[in-house]
Amino acid sequence: MKTLAAVINGINEEYEFEQLTLGELQPDEVVVRIVATGICHSDEALRIGDAPFPMPVVLGHEGAGIIEKIGSAVKDFNVGDQVVMAYNYCGMCPSCRTGHPSSCNNWAPLNMGGGRPDGSYTFFKEDGTPVSNFFSQSSFATHTITNVNNLIKVDAEEDLRLIGPLGCGLLTGFGTVVNGLKAKSGSSIAVFGTGAVGLGALMTANIVGCSTIIAIDIHDSRLETAKELGATHTINSNTENLAERIAEITDELGVDYSIDTTGLPAVMKASIKVLGIGGISAPVAVTPHSVEFNTFLDLVLANRKLAGVLMGDVVPQLAIPELIKFHKEGKFPFERLLKFYKFSEINQAVADSNSGETIKPILIVDEEYRRDEPLA
Ligand SMILES: [Zn+2]
Ligand SMILES: [Zn+2]
Repeated sequence: MKTLAAVINGINEEYEFEQLTLGELQPDEVVVRIVATGICHSDEALRIGDAPFPMPVVLGHEGAGIIEKIGSAVKDFNVGDQVVMAYNYCGMCPSCRTGHPSSCNNWAPLNMGGGRPDGSYTFFKEDGTPVSNFFSQSSFATHTITNVNNLIKVDAEEDLRLIGPLGCGLLTGFGTVVNGLKAKSGSSIAVFGTGAVGLGALMTANIVGCSTIIAIDIHDSRLETAKELGATHTINSNTENLAERIAEITDELGVDYSIDTTGLPAVMKASIKVLGIGGISAPVAVTPHSVEFNTFLDLVLANRKLAGVLMGDVVPQLAIPELIKFHKEGKFPFERLLKFYKFSEINQAVADSNSGETIKPILIVDEEYRRDEPLA
């Protein structure tokens, strides 16, 4: 089976469209025809080499599509089902069995190995060269092979052009607030960076009832969006004094929770410094940078905690339907973050995401899908 994929052949190279062949379908896998896919900053981190990855590779891990073929052991999905794809996990290890699939003991080989754990590949070039997959998903293609554990079935009426980002960026923002920080109602939270993860966290802070929600960014237009989505305060850290403003907003107490989505050393440091006594900070960006702080003065003395949270530490099969429900109720209006591009415009979409012009680019891979229905 052939697929048209946007391939990265080396670090810092642009996406190139190539006809690839899909490998043999294994019993617990399906072929998905991609309808649309979000572009995430992690895709970009891999493309530019911030996170090492075997190339050539088909990136993309916020895909939504329709099942076209099922493996011999697949029982819970049928051809024609609409699905959102998240990451792969083994389902058998202690973390998976206790509801923490993003802590799966086999996370790296299943999501970051390039091929399957048995050494086989899902994509091949015409000359037989294997091409890496990403997250067992690789949604920057017209068709892809993915594992059943990646799949979240959604109702036939859901518009697949919108909901791909629920599989990574928005899931991460949501889960970091709910499970990573376990934010309580009436608490205060500072969100550094108002991209998809930051705004997902901010909308969730609203849902759980945080009473002080501070959005920090360097783009006024994004801070305006943050305000519309429920930020009670905004700070432009380029033009305002961050420490003074946080002190003023929190009556000198500092915040209960903070999230850094930028991965920049100065910002990561600031996200720890703004915590009040007993505060918890979650740095969630994929970043090559390190940050230096004093464990006694910055953490111990004030009982502060630093929490690593991968993919929101949620079960995607439970969290994504919940987010779709919140969206229907108007509590999670993520459609406000989306901008749509043709699949062929992938390099432009990446440039617009990098410049800050677009919060969440979505590539429409199947332009025939509900062609007559307007996009959000
Ligand atoms: Zn991502
Ligand atoms: Zn596992």
